[in-house]
Amino acid sequence: MSKKTLIIGAGGVGNVVAFKCAMNAQIFGEITLASRTLSKCDAIAKNVKKKVGVELKTATVDADSIPQLIELFKELTPDIVINVALPYQDLTIMDACTECGIDYLDTANYEHPDTAKFEYKEQWERDEQFKEANIMALLGSGFDPGVTNVFCAYAQKHYFDEIHTIDILDCNAGDHGYPFATNFNPEINLREVSANGRYWQKNDDRQGEWIETKPMEIMQIWDYPEVGEKESYLLYHEEMESLVKHIKGLKRIRFFMTFGQSYLTHMKCLENVGMLGIKEVEHKGQKIVPMEFLSTLLPDPASLGARTKGKTNIGIYAKGIKDGKERTIYIYQVSDHEKCYEEVLSQGVSYTTGVPAMIGAKLILEGKWQGTGVFNMEEFDPDPFMEELMVQGLPWKIEEKSNSQK
Ligand code: NDP
Repeated sequence: MSKKTLIIGAGGVGNVVAFKCAMNAQIFGEITLASRTLSKCDAIAKNVKKKVGVELKTATVDADSIPQLIELFKELTPDIVINVALPYQDLTIMDACTECGIDYLDTANYEHPDTAKFEYKEQWERDEQFKEANIMALLGSGFDPGVTNVFCAYAQKHYFDEIHTIDILDCNAGDHGYPFATNFNPEINLREVSANGRYWQKNDDRQGEWIETKPMEIMQIWDYPEVGEKESYLLYHEEMESLVKHIKGLKRIRFFMTFGQSYLTHMKCLENVGMLGIKEVEHKGQKIVPMEFLSTLLPDPASLGARTKGKTNIGIYAKGIKDGKERTIYIYQVSDHEKCYEEVLSQGVSYTTGVPAMIGAKLILEGKWQGTGVFNMEEFDPDPFMEELMVQGLPWKIEEKSNSQK
């Protein structure tokens, strides 16, 4: 019987998911795109029809409201809900899914609008609820988290007996020509990069511990194939929380992201004047959240596609032991912003997030990734996901490195 798919969120990532599901319509069946603003869904549906020839249904929903979600789910009866709205909506959508017995997928961990925590706690706590409903939730099926978790699982399965250290390396060398803009939702992006950094380390006889750093305190220069050397800053990133649970023998995991000096100077200045604040302030009798206001001023990430040039390169650098010998491998994926735009009218950051969201959903619908409960990506067999990446627009490479490198 033909499947039904519901995508929630019509931003930059939602656009890519809609295109890619339509390109795989034999699996996704009847596809509906829902968001708060119907006109955004309709605009995407129009482009998909023109470029891919597939008709999408559209709907409006406020995903902060469980009753509204349940009403929509009952009307559409989807087999899967792909949540590419904002991390604030993760819990309401998960709860509506368990209420209606529908599999769930997202690309970012739940965040409370008033406190930036970047943790899976509240989503993992819903494991029993998903088991009881006999359905699954796949968390973090974007690029990072997402593909980076799958790269780690692939390294663990095929290249190592034990992985000792992992460095996740995220480089976006795209240029959109604006003095300052973010490549995905500004609020979520700026909360992430202005927070304290953190990495995880385990000394031989001790429990692993998180070591906190000041924002942008640790910088290393990494050499990214097809991009070149870039200053990369240690950040906390959510996939590390699940990887420390699931990768055998791990002694250290870190995450680095590249930033240009101009981006950092803009960010520091905005932070110094209080524009990155997430608590309400009063302005002429009106309450505003500075970060939300800034988000209104900045270019919409979905509009960057047509003007972004350059490449992204995201990968993992893993060191460990295989058959008693030390080994180091680097798995990475390079995307070209202009090629992404040519294919689906989006820049590379939305593309590299939306394609893995589609792939995760495809594997669930095909029954290749199956289970009941709440899962992170590395808990499933990485092979079918890695095969799909190759054919759905995100081909990857593996390099064996000499052990003297970082
Ligand atoms: P955008 O801001 O471009 O789009 C978000 C969309 O969600 C908008 O269409 C918006 O509404 C919709 N939305 C927001 N609130 C609600 C609500 N209450 N009800 C219904 N719809 C709502 O964000 P992006 O597309 O850039 O990012 C989407 C998600 O992808 C985010 O969670 C982000 O964190 C994640 N992400 C993950 C990455 C990864 O690699 N794992 C990388 C980049 C992003 P409206 O219809 O009104 O516009």
